[in-house]
Amino acid sequence: MKVHVIGGGVIGLCSAYYLQKAGHEVTILDKGDFGAGCSFGNAGMIVPSHFVPLASPGVISKGLRWMFSASSPFYIRPRLDLQLAQWLWHFYRACTPEKVRAAMPIIRDLNQGSRLLYQDLSSELAVPFDLENKGLIMLFRSAKGEKEEISGAEMANDLGVQAEVLSTNDLASLEGGTRLQARGGVLYPGDSHLSPHLFMKAIVDYLKVAGVKFLPNTILAGWDTQKSKVTHIRTQSGNRLPVDQVVLAAGSWSQKILRPLKINMPIQDGKGYSVTLTAPNERPTIPSILSEDKVAITPMGKDLRFGGTLELGGMNGSVNPKRVQGIMSSLPRYYPNINLPKQQDVDIWVGFRPCSPDGLPYIGRSSQVPNLVLAGGHAMMGMSLGPITGKLIAEVVDKQQPSVDLSLLQPERYG
Ligand SMILES: Cc1cc2nc3c(=O)[nH]c(=O)nc-3n(C[C@H](O)[C@H](O)[C@H](O)COP(=O)(O)OP(=O)(O)OC[C@H]3O[C@@H](n4cnc5c(N)ncnc54)[C@H](O)[C@@H]3O)c2cc1C
Repeated sequence: MKVHVIGGGVIGLCSAYYLQKAGHEVTILDKGDFGAGCSFGNAGMIVPSHFVPLASPGVISKGLRWMFSASSPFYIRPRLDLQLAQWLWHFYRACTPEKVRAAMPIIRDLNQGSRLLYQDLSSELAVPFDLENKGLIMLFRSAKGEKEEISGAEMANDLGVQAEVLSTNDLASLEGGTRLQARGGVLYPGDSHLSPHLFMKAIVDYLKVAGVKFLPNTILAGWDTQKSKVTHIRTQSGNRLPVDQVVLAAGSWSQKILRPLKINMPIQDGKGYSVTLTAPNERPTIPSILSEDKVAITPMGKDLRFGGTLELGGMNGSVNPKRVQGIMSSLPRYYPNINLPKQQDVDIWVGFRPCSPDGLPYIGRSSQVPNLVLAGGHAMMGMSLGPITGKLIAEVVDKQQPSVDLSLLQPERYG
Protein backbone atom coordinates (compact mmCIF):
# COMPACT_ATOMS: atom_id res chain seq x y z
CA MET A 1 0.00 0.00 0.00
CA LYS A 2 1.10 3.60 -0.57
CA VAL A 3 1.15 5.55 2.68
CA HIS A 4 1.81 9.27 3.10
CA VAL A 5 3.04 10.30 6.55
CA ILE A 6 2.62 13.97 7.42
CA GLY A 7 5.10 15.25 9.99
CA GLY A 8 8.75 14.31 10.40
CA GLY A 9 8.99 14.38 14.18
CA VAL A 10 9.70 11.25 16.22
CA ILE A 11 6.11 10.04 15.83
CA GLY A 12 6.04 10.46 12.04
CA LEU A 13 9.50 8.95 11.55
CA CYS A 14 8.80 5.95 13.79
CA SER A 15 5.49 5.42 11.95
CA ALA A 16 7.38 5.53 8.64
CA TYR A 17 9.89 3.01 10.01
CA TYR A 18 7.33 0.37 11.02
CA LEU A 19 5.20 1.00 7.92
CA GLN A 20 8.23 0.50 5.69
CA LYS A 21 9.12 -2.68 7.60
CA ALA A 22 5.57 -3.94 7.04
CA GLY A 23 6.17 -3.62 3.30
CA HIS A 24 4.42 -0.32 2.50
CA GLU A 25 5.60 2.27 0.02
CA VAL A 26 6.08 5.23 2.33
CA THR A 27 6.39 8.95 1.57
CA ILE A 28 7.02 11.32 4.48
CA LEU A 29 6.61 15.07 4.22
CA ASP A 30 7.44 17.87 6.60
CA LYS A 31 7.06 21.61 6.54
CA GLY A 32 10.70 21.89 7.55
CA ASP A 33 13.87 20.01 6.81
CA PHE A 34 13.38 17.03 9.19
CA GLY A 35 15.47 18.86 11.75
CA ALA A 36 13.03 21.11 13.60
CA GLY A 37 9.88 20.36 15.64
CA CYS A 38 9.70 19.19 19.20
CA SER A 39 11.63 15.97 18.74
CA PHE A 40 15.18 17.33 18.55
CA GLY A 41 16.07 19.36 21.63
CA ASN A 42 14.04 17.44 24.21
CA ALA A 43 15.43 15.72 27.30
CA GLY A 44 15.68 12.31 25.62
CA MET A 45 14.26 10.32 28.53
CA ILE A 46 12.58 6.97 27.93
CA VAL A 47 10.25 6.81 30.86
CA PRO A 48 8.37 3.73 32.04
CA SER A 49 8.51 5.61 35.38
CA HIS A 50 6.09 8.22 34.03
CA PHE A 51 2.80 6.35 34.18
CA VAL A 52 0.73 9.13 35.81
CA PRO A 53 -0.94 11.33 33.18
CA LEU A 54 -0.46 15.10 33.38
CA ALA A 55 -4.18 15.44 34.10
CA SER A 56 -4.38 14.02 37.62
CA PRO A 57 -5.96 14.97 40.96
CA GLY A 58 -4.11 17.84 42.67
CA VAL A 59 -2.51 19.16 39.50
CA ILE A 60 -5.06 21.96 39.08
CA SER A 61 -4.49 23.51 42.51
CA LYS A 62 -0.71 23.19 42.06
CA GLY A 63 -0.98 24.71 38.56
CA LEU A 64 -3.01 27.64 39.84
CA ARG A 65 -0.35 28.39 42.46
CA TRP A 66 2.42 28.24 39.84
CA MET A 67 0.50 30.57 37.52
CA PHE A 68 1.38 33.54 39.71
CA SER A 69 5.14 33.03 39.71
CA ALA A 70 7.17 34.42 36.80
CA SER A 71 9.78 31.64 36.99
CA SER A 72 7.51 28.68 37.78
CA PRO A 73 7.49 25.52 35.66
CA PHE A 74 3.87 25.97 34.48
CA TYR A 75 2.01 28.86 32.90
CA ILE A 76 -1.08 29.52 30.79
CA ARG A 77 -1.05 32.78 28.84
CA PRO A 78 -4.47 34.29 29.62
CA ARG A 79 -6.41 34.81 26.38
CA LEU A 80 -9.84 34.46 24.82
CA ASP A 81 -9.47 31.24 22.88
CA LEU A 82 -12.32 28.78 22.44
CA GLN A 83 -9.97 25.85 21.76
CA LEU A 84 -8.00 26.55 24.94
CA ALA A 85 -11.24 26.83 26.94
CA GLN A 86 -12.47 23.50 25.56
CA TRP A 87 -9.10 21.87 26.22
CA LEU A 88 -9.07 23.12 29.83
CA TRP A 89 -12.61 21.84 30.34
CA HIS A 90 -11.62 18.35 29.10
CA PHE A 91 -8.44 18.53 31.21
CA TYR A 92 -10.48 19.37 34.31
CA ARG A 93 -12.84 16.45 33.61
CA ALA A 94 -9.88 14.07 33.20
CA CYS A 95 -8.46 14.91 36.66
CA THR A 96 -10.41 12.23 38.55
CA PRO A 97 -8.95 9.23 40.40
CA GLU A 98 -11.01 6.81 38.26
CA LYS A 99 -9.73 8.24 34.95
CA VAL A 100 -6.15 8.29 36.20
CA ARG A 101 -6.45 4.68 37.44
CA ALA A 102 -7.67 3.63 33.99
CA ALA A 103 -4.91 5.56 32.17
CA MET A 104 -1.92 4.43 34.27
CA PRO A 105 -1.58 0.81 33.09
CA ILE A 106 -1.91 1.90 29.47
CA ILE A 107 0.82 4.53 29.76
CA ARG A 108 3.00 1.98 31.61
CA ASP A 109 2.52 -0.67 28.91
CA LEU A 110 3.18 1.81 26.10
CA ASN A 111 6.38 3.07 27.73
CA GLN A 112 7.69 -0.39 28.62
CA GLY A 113 6.94 -1.66 25.10
CA SER A 114 8.64 1.36 23.55
CA ARG A 115 11.75 0.97 25.68
CA LEU A 116 12.17 -2.58 24.40
CA LEU A 117 11.71 -1.41 20.82
CA TYR A 118 14.47 1.18 21.34
CA GLN A 119 16.83 -1.70 22.22
CA ASP A 120 16.00 -3.32 18.86
CA LEU A 121 16.41 0.00 17.06
CA SER A 122 19.84 0.51 18.57
CA SER A 123 21.04 -2.65 16.85
CA GLU A 124 19.16 -1.98 13.61
CA LEU A 125 20.08 1.67 12.94
CA ALA A 126 23.59 2.11 11.64
CA VAL A 127 24.35 5.30 13.61
CA PRO A 128 24.51 5.05 17.44
CA PHE A 129 22.30 7.46 19.36
CA ASP A 130 23.73 7.33 22.90
CA LEU A 131 21.08 4.90 24.18
CA GLU A 132 21.84 4.07 27.81
CA ASN A 133 19.88 1.94 30.26
CA LYS A 134 20.94 3.52 33.54
CA GLY A 135 17.55 4.43 34.95
CA LEU A 136 16.27 7.80 36.14
CA ILE A 137 16.44 9.43 39.56
CA MET A 138 13.69 11.64 40.92
CA LEU A 139 15.69 13.93 43.21
CA PHE A 140 14.12 15.85 46.09
CA ARG A 141 15.42 18.48 48.46
CA SER A 142 12.41 19.15 50.69
CA ALA A 143 10.29 17.06 53.06
CA LYS A 144 7.30 17.74 50.81
CA GLY A 145 9.22 16.55 47.73
CA GLU A 146 10.31 13.45 49.63
CA LYS A 147 6.73 12.63 50.61
CA GLU A 148 5.51 13.06 47.02
CA GLU A 149 8.28 10.99 45.50
CA ILE A 150 8.03 8.17 48.05
CA SER A 151 4.31 7.94 47.46
CA GLY A 152 5.06 7.87 43.70
CA ALA A 153 7.53 5.02 44.30
CA GLU A 154 4.90 3.04 46.23
CA MET A 155 2.39 3.55 43.44
CA ALA A 156 5.03 2.44 40.91
CA ASN A 157 5.83 -0.75 42.79
CA ASP A 158 2.09 -1.52 43.08
CA LEU A 159 1.85 -1.14 39.31
CA GLY A 160 4.85 -3.40 38.69
CA VAL A 161 7.27 -0.57 37.85
CA GLN A 162 10.45 -1.00 39.88
CA ALA A 163 11.33 1.97 42.12
CA GLU A 164 14.00 2.19 44.85
CA VAL A 165 14.17 4.91 47.49
CA LEU A 166 17.72 6.30 47.83
CA SER A 167 19.38 8.07 50.76
CA THR A 168 21.92 10.88 50.41
CA ASN A 169 24.67 8.28 50.84
CA ASP A 170 23.17 6.05 48.13
CA LEU A 171 23.15 9.04 45.80
CA ALA A 172 26.77 9.84 46.57
CA SER A 173 27.86 6.29 45.78
CA LEU A 174 25.81 6.17 42.58
CA GLU A 175 27.15 9.47 41.27
CA GLY A 176 30.67 9.35 42.72
CA GLY A 177 32.19 11.76 40.21
CA THR A 178 29.60 14.51 40.58
CA ARG A 179 28.72 16.42 43.72
CA LEU A 180 25.02 16.09 44.38
CA GLN A 181 23.05 18.04 46.98
CA ALA A 182 19.72 16.41 47.71
CA ARG A 183 17.75 15.04 50.63
CA GLY A 184 17.32 11.80 48.70
CA GLY A 185 15.85 10.34 45.55
CA VAL A 186 13.90 7.54 43.96
CA LEU A 187 15.67 5.46 41.33
CA TYR A 188 13.63 3.99 38.50
CA PRO A 189 16.10 1.44 37.10
CA GLY A 190 13.82 0.55 34.17
CA ASP A 191 14.19 3.93 32.45
CA SER A 192 16.63 4.76 29.67
CA HIS A 193 17.89 7.83 27.85
CA LEU A 194 19.32 8.82 24.48
CA SER A 195 20.39 11.84 22.42
CA PRO A 196 17.23 12.78 20.51
CA HIS A 197 18.97 14.64 17.67
CA LEU A 198 21.21 11.59 17.06
CA PHE A 199 18.24 9.23 17.10
CA MET A 200 16.37 11.44 14.63
CA LYS A 201 19.37 11.55 12.31
CA ALA A 202 19.90 7.79 12.60
CA ILE A 203 16.31 6.97 11.70
CA VAL A 204 16.21 9.49 8.82
CA ASP A 205 19.42 7.98 7.39
CA TYR A 206 18.04 4.45 7.77
CA LEU A 207 14.72 5.30 6.12
CA LYS A 208 16.42 7.02 3.17
CA VAL A 209 18.51 3.93 2.51
CA ALA A 210 15.43 1.72 2.94
CA GLY A 211 13.68 3.62 0.14
CA VAL A 212 11.28 5.90 2.02
CA LYS A 213 10.63 9.04 -0.01
CA PHE A 214 11.32 12.30 1.83
CA LEU A 215 9.58 15.56 0.89
CA PRO A 216 11.16 18.35 2.97
CA ASN A 217 9.79 21.92 3.01
CA THR A 218 6.38 20.62 1.98
CA ILE A 219 3.54 22.18 3.92
CA LEU A 220 0.22 20.38 4.02
CA ALA A 221 -2.34 23.12 3.37
CA GLY A 222 -5.56 21.25 2.61
CA TRP A 223 -7.38 18.05 1.79
CA ASP A 224 -9.46 16.91 -1.20
CA THR A 225 -12.07 14.34 -0.27
CA GLN A 226 -14.54 12.14 -2.08
CA LYS A 227 -17.15 9.97 -0.37
CA SER A 228 -15.53 10.92 2.97
CA LYS A 229 -12.09 9.56 1.94
CA VAL A 230 -9.05 11.75 1.34
CA THR A 231 -8.10 11.56 -2.34
CA HIS A 232 -5.37 14.24 -2.49
CA ILE A 233 -3.40 16.36 -0.10
CA ARG A 234 -2.77 19.93 -1.15
CA THR A 235 0.50 21.63 -0.37
CA GLN A 236 1.06 25.30 0.30
CA SER A 237 3.10 25.60 -2.90
CA GLY A 238 0.06 24.55 -4.95
CA ASN A 239 0.74 20.85 -5.57
CA ARG A 240 -1.97 18.19 -5.31
CA LEU A 241 -0.55 14.82 -4.26
CA PRO A 242 -2.77 11.76 -4.83
CA VAL A 243 -2.98 9.59 -1.70
CA ASP A 244 -4.17 6.15 -0.71
CA GLN A 245 -3.58 5.97 3.08
CA VAL A 246 -2.54 9.00 5.17
CA VAL A 247 -0.96 9.09 8.62
CA LEU A 248 -1.12 12.49 10.29
CA ALA A 249 1.66 13.00 12.86
CA ALA A 250 2.04 16.77 12.84
CA GLY A 251 2.50 17.27 16.59
CA SER A 252 1.11 20.52 17.98
CA TRP A 253 -0.09 21.58 14.53
CA SER A 254 -2.43 18.61 14.10
CA GLN A 255 -5.63 20.09 15.48
CA LYS A 256 -5.54 23.02 13.07
CA ILE A 257 -4.69 20.76 10.11
CA LEU A 258 -7.70 18.54 10.91
CA ARG A 259 -10.20 21.40 11.14
CA PRO A 260 -11.24 21.34 7.43
CA LEU A 261 -12.08 17.63 7.85
CA LYS A 262 -14.25 18.55 10.87
CA ILE A 263 -12.24 16.21 13.10
CA ASN A 264 -11.85 17.46 16.65
CA MET A 265 -8.58 16.26 18.20
CA PRO A 266 -7.83 18.81 20.95
CA ILE A 267 -4.14 19.62 21.33
CA GLN A 268 -2.49 22.50 23.16
CA ASP A 269 1.16 23.31 22.60
CA GLY A 270 3.06 22.91 25.86
CA LYS A 271 6.06 25.12 25.22
CA GLY A 272 9.28 24.06 26.93
CA TYR A 273 12.93 25.06 26.85
CA SER A 274 16.19 23.18 26.96
CA VAL A 275 19.80 24.22 27.32
CA THR A 276 22.76 21.98 26.47
CA LEU A 277 26.13 22.38 28.17
CA THR A 278 28.96 21.15 25.97
CA ALA A 279 31.37 18.90 27.89
CA PRO A 280 30.77 20.49 31.32
CA ASN A 281 33.42 20.21 34.04
CA GLU A 282 31.25 17.73 35.96
CA ARG A 283 28.50 15.56 34.57
CA PRO A 284 26.16 13.10 36.29
CA THR A 285 25.89 9.74 34.53
CA ILE A 286 22.27 9.02 35.44
CA PRO A 287 19.46 11.34 34.26
CA SER A 288 17.44 13.03 36.97
CA ILE A 289 14.32 15.08 37.45
CA LEU A 290 14.49 17.77 40.09
CA SER A 291 11.23 17.08 41.82
CA GLU A 292 10.45 20.50 43.30
CA ASP A 293 11.55 22.44 40.17
CA LYS A 294 10.27 20.02 37.50
CA VAL A 295 13.56 20.28 35.61
CA ALA A 296 14.92 17.30 33.65
CA ILE A 297 18.70 16.75 33.53
CA THR A 298 20.13 14.31 30.98
CA PRO A 299 23.71 13.34 30.21
CA MET A 300 24.02 13.02 26.43
CA GLY A 301 27.36 11.69 25.30
CA LYS A 302 29.86 14.12 26.83
CA ASP A 303 27.25 16.88 27.12
CA LEU A 304 24.56 17.68 29.64
CA ARG A 305 21.08 18.88 28.74
CA PHE A 306 18.56 20.35 31.12
CA GLY A 307 15.05 21.39 30.27
CA GLY A 308 11.66 22.20 31.62
CA THR A 309 8.60 24.49 31.90
CA LEU A 310 5.25 23.91 30.31
CA GLU A 311 3.59 27.04 28.96
CA LEU A 312 0.26 26.96 27.15
CA GLY A 313 0.85 30.06 25.12
CA GLY A 314 -0.80 29.59 21.71
CA MET A 315 2.19 28.57 19.54
CA ASN A 316 4.28 31.51 20.60
CA GLY A 317 7.94 30.66 20.02
CA SER A 318 9.40 33.58 21.96
CA VAL A 319 11.76 32.87 24.85
CA ASN A 320 10.66 34.06 28.28
CA PRO A 321 13.98 34.83 30.05
CA LYS A 322 12.45 34.57 33.54
CA ARG A 323 11.30 31.00 32.94
CA VAL A 324 14.66 30.05 31.45
CA GLN A 325 16.22 31.61 34.55
CA GLY A 326 13.89 29.40 36.62
CA ILE A 327 15.33 26.31 34.90
CA MET A 328 18.96 27.45 35.00
CA SER A 329 18.92 28.50 38.64
CA SER A 330 17.68 25.08 39.74
CA LEU A 331 20.76 23.23 38.44
CA PRO A 332 23.33 24.57 40.99
CA ARG A 333 20.94 23.89 43.87
CA TYR A 334 21.32 20.15 43.16
CA TYR A 335 24.66 20.00 41.33
CA PRO A 336 26.68 22.80 42.98
CA ASN A 337 30.00 22.04 41.25
CA ILE A 338 28.83 22.23 37.63
CA ASN A 339 30.05 25.46 36.05
CA LEU A 340 27.05 27.20 34.58
CA PRO A 341 27.53 29.80 31.84
CA LYS A 342 25.61 33.07 31.96
CA GLN A 343 22.12 32.89 30.50
CA GLN A 344 23.00 35.31 27.70
CA ASP A 345 25.83 32.98 26.62
CA VAL A 346 23.74 29.84 26.10
CA ASP A 347 21.60 28.71 23.17
CA ILE A 348 18.05 28.16 24.27
CA TRP A 349 16.04 25.58 22.38
CA VAL A 350 12.24 25.90 22.29
CA GLY A 351 9.82 23.05 21.58
CA PHE A 352 6.04 22.65 21.57
CA ARG A 353 4.86 19.47 23.29
CA PRO A 354 1.61 18.31 21.70
CA CYS A 355 -0.62 17.94 24.77
CA SER A 356 -3.95 16.12 24.80
CA PRO A 357 -6.28 17.10 27.66
CA ASP A 358 -6.31 13.67 29.36
CA GLY A 359 -2.56 13.02 29.03
CA LEU A 360 -3.12 10.03 26.74
CA PRO A 361 -1.90 10.06 23.15
CA TYR A 362 -4.19 9.81 20.16
CA ILE A 363 -3.51 6.62 18.21
CA GLY A 364 -6.00 5.14 15.77
CA ARG A 365 -7.97 5.35 12.57
CA SER A 366 -10.43 8.19 12.04
CA SER A 367 -14.01 6.97 12.15
CA GLN A 368 -15.06 9.84 9.85
CA VAL A 369 -12.30 9.60 7.24
CA PRO A 370 -11.52 5.89 6.84
CA ASN A 371 -8.20 6.25 5.02
CA LEU A 372 -6.79 8.64 7.64
CA VAL A 373 -4.84 7.35 10.66
CA LEU A 374 -3.95 9.74 13.47
CA ALA A 375 -0.99 9.81 15.87
CA GLY A 376 -0.34 12.67 18.27
CA GLY A 377 -0.86 14.33 21.62
CA HIS A 378 2.10 12.60 23.31
CA ALA A 379 2.88 15.67 25.43
CA MET A 380 5.98 15.10 27.59
CA MET A 381 6.41 11.49 26.46
CA GLY A 382 6.64 11.64 22.68
CA MET A 383 10.30 10.66 22.54
CA SER A 384 9.66 7.79 24.90
CA LEU A 385 6.56 6.59 23.06
CA GLY A 386 7.81 7.08 19.48
CA PRO A 387 8.65 3.44 18.62
CA ILE A 388 5.55 1.85 20.17
CA THR A 389 3.37 4.48 18.49
CA GLY A 390 4.99 3.75 15.13
CA LYS A 391 4.45 0.02 15.61
CA LEU A 392 0.80 0.54 16.56
CA ILE A 393 0.23 2.87 13.62
CA ALA A 394 1.55 0.22 11.23
CA GLU A 395 -0.83 -2.31 12.83
CA VAL A 396 -3.76 0.12 12.47
CA VAL A 397 -2.91 0.83 8.81
CA ASP A 398 -2.81 -2.94 8.20
CA LYS A 399 -6.09 -3.42 10.11
CA GLN A 400 -4.37 -5.91 12.42
CA GLN A 401 -5.32 -6.45 16.06
CA PRO A 402 -3.21 -3.76 17.81
CA SER A 403 -0.63 -5.11 20.27
CA VAL A 404 -1.88 -2.63 22.93
CA ASP A 405 -5.58 -1.94 23.61
CA LEU A 406 -6.30 1.37 21.85
CA SER A 407 -9.83 1.95 23.11
CA LEU A 408 -8.84 4.84 25.45
CA LEU A 409 -6.58 6.35 22.78
CA GLN A 410 -9.18 6.83 20.06
CA PRO A 411 -8.40 10.11 18.28
CA GLU A 412 -12.05 11.22 18.05
CA ARG A 413 -12.84 10.57 21.73
CA TYR A 414 -13.86 14.22 22.24
CA GLY A 415 -16.58 14.06 19.53
C1 LIG B 1 11.79 20.81 26.95
C2 LIG B 1 11.20 19.49 26.50
C3 LIG B 1 11.69 18.30 27.02
C4 LIG B 1 11.15 17.09 26.64
N1 LIG B 1 11.68 15.93 27.13
C5 LIG B 1 11.15 14.74 26.76
C6 LIG B 1 11.72 13.52 27.26
O1 LIG B 1 12.68 13.53 28.00
N2 LIG B 1 11.15 12.34 26.89
C7 LIG B 1 10.05 12.30 26.07
O2 LIG B 1 9.55 11.22 25.82
N3 LIG B 1 9.53 13.43 25.54
C8 LIG B 1 10.05 14.65 25.88
N4 LIG B 1 9.51 15.80 25.38
C9 LIG B 1 8.32 15.71 24.53
C10 LIG B 1 8.65 15.28 23.11
O3 LIG B 1 9.70 16.09 22.62
C11 LIG B 1 7.39 15.41 22.23
O4 LIG B 1 6.32 14.70 22.81
C12 LIG B 1 7.65 14.82 20.85
O5 LIG B 1 8.78 15.40 20.26
C13 LIG B 1 6.43 15.04 19.93
O6 LIG B 1 6.72 14.46 18.70
P1 LIG B 1 5.80 14.68 17.44
O7 LIG B 1 6.40 13.90 16.34
O8 LIG B 1 4.38 14.39 17.82
O9 LIG B 1 5.85 16.25 17.16
P2 LIG B 1 7.02 17.12 16.48
O10 LIG B 1 8.35 16.63 16.84
O11 LIG B 1 6.72 18.55 16.79
O12 LIG B 1 6.82 16.84 14.94
C14 LIG B 1 5.73 17.35 14.22
C15 LIG B 1 6.24 17.64 12.83
O13 LIG B 1 5.12 18.00 12.00
C16 LIG B 1 5.57 18.98 11.09
N5 LIG B 1 4.40 19.72 10.60
C17 LIG B 1 3.57 20.51 11.30
N6 LIG B 1 2.64 21.05 10.50
C18 LIG B 1 2.89 20.59 9.25
C19 LIG B 1 2.27 20.82 7.98
N7 LIG B 1 1.21 21.61 7.84
N8 LIG B 1 2.79 20.19 6.90
C20 LIG B 1 3.88 19.37 7.02
N9 LIG B 1 4.50 19.15 8.20
C21 LIG B 1 4.01 19.74 9.30
C22 LIG B 1 6.51 19.84 11.92
O14 LIG B 1 7.43 20.56 11.10
C23 LIG B 1 7.20 18.82 12.80
O15 LIG B 1 8.44 18.40 12.27
C24 LIG B 1 10.05 17.05 25.72
C25 LIG B 1 9.59 18.24 25.17
C26 LIG B 1 10.15 19.45 25.55
C27 LIG B 1 9.63 20.72 24.94
